[in-house]
Amino acid sequence: MKLSNYYLPTLREVPADAEIPSHQLMLRAGMIRSLSAGIYSYLPLGYRVIRKVEQIVREEMDRSGALEVLMPAMQIADIWKESGRWEEFGPLMVRFKDRNEREYCLGPTHEEVIADIVRDEVRSYKDLPFNLYQIQTKVRDEIRPRFGLMRAKEFIMKDAYTLDRDEEGLDKAYQNMYDAYVRVFERCGLDTRVVEADSGAMGGSGSHEFMVLADSGEDDLAFCTDCDYAANVERAEAGLEISSSGASASAADNDPAADEAAAIEKVHTPDATTIEDLVNMIEVSPKKMIKTMAYVADDKPVVALIRGDDQLNEVKFRNHLGAIELRPAHPDEFPERFGSVAGFIGPVDLPEDIKIVADSRIQELEQAVTGANQKDYHLVNVNPHRDIKEIEAFTELRTVQAGDPCPKCGGALEIKSGIEVGHIFKLGTKYSSSMEATYLDENGREQPIVMGSYGIGVTRVAAAAVEQHHDERGIVWPLPLAPYQVIILPLGNSSEVSQAAEELYQELQDAGLEVLLDDRDERAGVKFNDAELIGIPLRITIGSRSLEKEEFEVQIRRSGEEFNIDRSTASAEIKKLLEEEIE
Ligand SMILES: [Zn+2]
Repeated sequence: MKLSNYYLPTLREVPADAEIPSHQLMLRAGMIRSLSAGIYSYLPLGYRVIRKVEQIVREEMDRSGALEVLMPAMQIADIWKESGRWEEFGPLMVRFKDRNEREYCLGPTHEEVIADIVRDEVRSYKDLPFNLYQIQTKVRDEIRPRFGLMRAKEFIMKDAYTLDRDEEGLDKAYQNMYDAYVRVFERCGLDTRVVEADSGAMGGSGSHEFMVLADSGEDDLAFCTDCDYAANVERAEAGLEISSSGASASAADNDPAADEAAAIEKVHTPDATTIEDLVNMIEVSPKKMIKTMAYVADDKPVVALIRGDDQLNEVKFRNHLGAIELRPAHPDEFPERFGSVAGFIGPVDLPEDIKIVADSRIQELEQAVTGANQKDYHLVNVNPHRDIKEIEAFTELRTVQAGDPCPKCGGALEIKSGIEVGHIFKLGTKYSSSMEATYLDENGREQPIVMGSYGIGVTRVAAAAVEQHHDERGIVWPLPLAPYQVIILPLGNSSEVSQAAEELYQELQDAGLEVLLDDRDERAGVKFNDAELIGIPLRITIGSRSLEKEEFEVQIRRSGEEFNIDRSTASAEIKKLLEEEIE
């Protein structure tokens, strides 16, 4: 392609509302433009990258035995009501009515459509297993679309669905997809980690996420420094503390003999509504405080108890409750629904209809401090087992932190941020049971089809590649995703230079390479800046002086390395350099 006829609207300045490198650079490199918040057009250069991701995904899916289909983006509400997700998906789903008042949505995912496709046709165990996939635009009404293609309202996704006779078949299909995903991200040139994940609204028994490690990642991941344990912090568990930290430390703070006897006491703590305030006022360690977190779960008041130095993990809490919607209680709701006051809520003598769930660390506390359900007062000497009635369960509710013990080996966990680019789920029979997608087994008995579902965020892969591969001058595409492999920059006005550039351009194209020729009437500085910004792996510069010596100048974008090559062997040299770049 020649840049004189290209649409490449590059920007010198960093757009004000773009917070992370991929968003900034994809806008600056003229790859994407926003129609409105979270809705993008993919311009020529950007769409080439997306098609490269799609092609790698397609090849690996085909190789794994999956069959490509294309399902409708517009789906009827009926199938979602059958599966029970019409309510469950909440405001994330874009809904509308047609002229006959029939309800529809724009598909955020396609499990229901798949179940509908197979339920009338699959009759016998002989019809199974198989795997259907599509590459398609999905729509989700994100509450805060941001970070460019990273969290958009409309995005391109590859979604695959396996259909099996039993759990054993699902395990095999799942492993097959897992292996295909590893190959996809390797071929894209991305450094990814696989972590155990929460199944969330998808349901099912097992789930893994494929994560690109990057500082801008929205997910926190826990890794063991000693073994292969890796999990999304949403679901990561901490092992038991065997050392002298944590539990035993809190016991050491006490005089054991005095513990049992000491009775609850109310102390005046004016305006102390945070853990820090309390630490300063009554000189007690956060490890001895019970944080009482008031929530509303599906319109019922609930509280979570967490040690003062821990953070509540809302995903674990919601999963434990089995709630669809979980939100922090509003301060206005405290008096009526919790019989308390914001900032001073505590678990002692709460109204009986409130469900209390405690983190397992609360179990070990004695002589603890907590809110007195009265403005400006706290309780001291609280012993959870003695003083808090009706704790429904002690379970792990806290978010793991760096340094927590690994649940597998006891080693220390570290926390890194990552970008989710793939997610695979063992769905089991959740959708086939509710939607009656069944088959007859060898004994003529009706069985629900066992399903798995597997997603790759195609547009997000492109953004994640930029997050992982850029420098202060622009994008540094891994060769497999680069929109073009080579860019030729003729400099100056000499007709010899233009002619040499044109010849090389034709030669490289004939050799099957993807080449850009910057034949624009622009200054050298502009051409250099744009070439680096758009991140083409090899740059060939042709100027009058080097041409006199029958030489071209090469720059490798990734290493910044520059050297000359002979004009006569240029095409072969360039092919060789690209082959090396792949490795
Ligand atoms: Zn470990």
